[in-house]
Amino acid sequence: MKKDTKIVHAGRDKKWTGQVVSPPVYHASTIIHDTVEDLKYAIKNKNNHVMFYGRRGTPTHFAFREAMTELEGGYDCLVYPSGLAAINAALLSFLSSGDHLLMVDTTYEPTRHLCNKVLKRMGIETTYYDPLIGAGIKNLIKDNTKVIFTESPGSVTMEIQDIPAISKIAKEHDIVLMLDNTWGNLLSFDPYVHGVDISIQAATKYIVGHSDAMLGTITANEKHWSQLYDNSFYMGYTAAPDDINLAMRGIRTIKIRMKQHEQSALKIAKWLSSHEEVDKVLHPALTDCPGHEIWKRDFNGSNGLFSFTLKQGDDNAMTALLDNLKLFKMGYSWGGFESLVMSFYNLKKERELNHWDNYGPLVRLHVGLEDVDDLIADLDQGLEHYKKAL
Ligand SMILES: *Cc1c(COP(=O)(O)O)cnc(C)c1O
Repeated sequence: MKKDTKIVHAGRDKKWTGQVVSPPVYHASTIIHDTVEDLKYAIKNKNNHVMFYGRRGTPTHFAFREAMTELEGGYDCLVYPSGLAAINAALLSFLSSGDHLLMVDTTYEPTRHLCNKVLKRMGIETTYYDPLIGAGIKNLIKDNTKVIFTESPGSVTMEIQDIPAISKIAKEHDIVLMLDNTWGNLLSFDPYVHGVDISIQAATKYIVGHSDAMLGTITANEKHWSQLYDNSFYMGYTAAPDDINLAMRGIRTIKIRMKQHEQSALKIAKWLSSHEEVDKVLHPALTDCPGHEIWKRDFNGSNGLFSFTLKQGDDNAMTALLDNLKLFKMGYSWGGFESLVMSFYNLKKERELNHWDNYGPLVRLHVGLEDVDDLIADLDQGLEHYKKAL
């Protein structure tokens, strides 16, 4: 079956839905077991999509887990209360005191804080590596390296990583390869085809798609599944049924939403490329983006999130741009139906390797589902204000 068809049918097995179209939303802590025989059956099968206790899930969870596994790949999926909680759960399930972690330097900023604050306090050492390192990651591996963490494209600056090359090295050294696949969503990047062991999604973004719920997921291959599953339950992770329901609803329309996000963002990215104030457009489908060739080789498409840099400018001019945009709202997120803009990233301070020396002031856009010409007109007048304030 093609992915478009799976998107409509995934997780809608009769055993979850009964006679209705979508899986019902179960609100549950306590599960009642009628007889001792039923109780024993539930104890025996509690890891196997049988209701045992609310935290271990109800058909609302089981149906969504099944849908995510079908769409992203891997052996099975678990749900978490946020994308960042999922990143935490993945790392804490596989790292112990005295271990070494290789973390991409362009990772989502809260992941860096997790490494520098929490993991460090627990005696886990992090080395940050260049997102374009590829097979060169081999030289950074130590005897105690247990996890390589990737995120492609890089947060804000959009570098594409050579995941297959890193996977080859990880396999040779028996190191767990994790990916924050949020940009890749369910359509643009197939993690298991490219040799990832564990794939994390901030479902908060395109899967929920409407900026009204927080949710994270992890799929894992069979080799790493039971360690992830057991440790996630030891740590108490679960997710709320209403939020899972919103994510399940989001799945059904993700393909048509992504198509529009992609098409509009490409049109805006190309328009920006020829704007006199713009220096580089960091969109994976455009040649200015570091790793563009790898994107062409490994990805099936793009979406609404990309960045661009300006030739010159200061905080004053940037303020004039952001304050005058009417359709692009300032907000620290992306993946919803609405357009967003953000700037004032402190890329030199927040990163260890200084790959940011050659670039000017940066703006990140999330291109929403508004009419694309309205969005271009908004950016056009915003950039006029920028120019005047220079
Ligand atoms: C938003 C985001 C996260 C965190 O997700 P939350 O649900 O906000 O905790 C993780 N990684 C990436 C790439 C993100 O954009």
